[in-house]
Amino acid sequence: MNAPHTFPPLAADLSAAAREFLARGHHQMLIGDQWVDSSNGARLDVLNPADESRLATVPAATSADVDRAVAAARAAFEAPSWARLRPDQRQRLLLRLADLMEANARTLAEIESLDNGKSAAVAEAVDVALSASYFRYMAGWVTKIEGSTLDVSIPFAPQNEFVGYTRKEPVGVVGAVVAWNFPLLLASWKLAPALATGCTVVLKPAEQTPLTALYLAQLVLEAGFPPGVVNVVTGDGPSVGAPLTRHPGVNKVTFTGSTEVGKLIGKAAMDNMTRVTLELGGKSPVIVLEDCDPGVAAAGASQAIYFNQGQVCCAGSRLYVHKKNYDRVVADLADHAKSLKIGHGLDASNQLGPLVSQEQMERVCGYIDIGRQQGAEVVAGGARAGERGYFVQPTVLAGIDQKARVVQEEIFGPVVVAMPYDDLDQVAAWANDTPYGLGASIWSNDLSRVHRLIPKIKSGTVWVNCHNMLDPALPFGGYKQSGYGKEMGRAALDAYLEQKSVLMMV
Ligand code: NAD
Repeated sequence: MNAPHTFPPLAADLSAAAREFLARGHHQMLIGDQWVDSSNGARLDVLNPADESRLATVPAATSADVDRAVAAARAAFEAPSWARLRPDQRQRLLLRLADLMEANARTLAEIESLDNGKSAAVAEAVDVALSASYFRYMAGWVTKIEGSTLDVSIPFAPQNEFVGYTRKEPVGVVGAVVAWNFPLLLASWKLAPALATGCTVVLKPAEQTPLTALYLAQLVLEAGFPPGVVNVVTGDGPSVGAPLTRHPGVNKVTFTGSTEVGKLIGKAAMDNMTRVTLELGGKSPVIVLEDCDPGVAAAGASQAIYFNQGQVCCAGSRLYVHKKNYDRVVADLADHAKSLKIGHGLDASNQLGPLVSQEQMERVCGYIDIGRQQGAEVVAGGARAGERGYFVQPTVLAGIDQKARVVQEEIFGPVVVAMPYDDLDQVAAWANDTPYGLGASIWSNDLSRVHRLIPKIKSGTVWVNCHNMLDPALPFGGYKQSGYGKEMGRAALDAYLEQKSVLMMV
């Protein structure tokens, strides 16, 4: 266990609730109805990426803690207080949680900003707002989960009659493991459909950003969910995520993170035949057609890559511009990049915050160097920004081949690679030429070309004249190595339900 320590003074303009939460310093995790430390007392530091100070510590859970959390989730799943709730009662709990999230929106946003580095204003308008609306959207489904009745044609019992029907049942205990780029939102993408369907959950937030999950767990209890329906265990991937996703007591694993770890989790899930959903990495193209106004394209491309410091699974990290407007769009994009105000997320005038960690900053700067070594021209940015905090300049790379590593591999930072193209077939082939297939955007008002291009793009989402826009009703998930299964929309519900067939001889 780390020695007790003091935390740096918190910024003066924090809300009282955020200040009170953060002033606890040493946080506990939620198992059943108890806020607990880890079984061996070990702790993890949580850093503020804007100034590298220690913001908090959280328990470094052990596999024994994972066992306890899964047992608590199992007990809650079977307890009448949850299993026998009527759908309208479950719906009411989800709606109450959404209300509480909105009532605590500023607090959640400030904690998210300090923990992850992102803008608090954006976190409030996007992360918290989308999370609350997702709980509301899923609350709407709670009373509409239904099977069907079927006329069966059983030939070998002509003298009998049969009634056949299907029913949907909650899959059981869900193990949810999420990444650090949208901590609250990713947790909500798991919790909302799981709770809507009557499952119980053990959530493991990313070790870099566990704080809003702990705050959300408080709200879950305040909303009136029975203890054990939601459990939060904190810690790193190998010590906590791996035992949770391999646990034989878990019926469904839902994971958001890298493709590399997703493959490990998928293989482990197969051993237990655990249901699994994987939301993984991306290398999403932004495709600017010939007719698009260059200024509109540059502004759109800037938003597509620099939103959330480029730490977005579907970030527009490859920019393909028709050769006619290529120079102009790249020059305008570089001007955008250079004009962005860099700084910590509590100042609403800052447009680009720090990356989440030193490791991520070094990874992104390492990729910029790889780009340079492979011949890329650095049109904007290209280095760390400042000496304290994990800031990286918004970067534009150009003049590099489709097969270069910076074009093929996910960088997950504020780095876009620009390339000119000649015609639709060529750009469609290049757009599809990575292992990923999460998102893509097309910028054009030439409807005929846009409609010809959409079916050629192998990705789970195609945006037209926008990028990174999500809605609870629209399924989101990857083709190819970007994942398996969908978040959001009705499709997400099915991932938390088993379908039982009933055949009755009458
Ligand atoms: P990561 O895969 O390293 O970690 C994600 C989570 O998995 C963390 O909670 C981590 O502790 C845990 N983990 C790590 N090793 C594990 C293991 N062996 N077993 C079980 N759990 C383990 O990813 P990251 O670097 O934190 O996140 C960035 C990645 O997430 C990017 O690739 C990004 O594209 C992806 N992402 C995808 C989506 C989507 O919806 N498709 C959304 C956000 C982020």
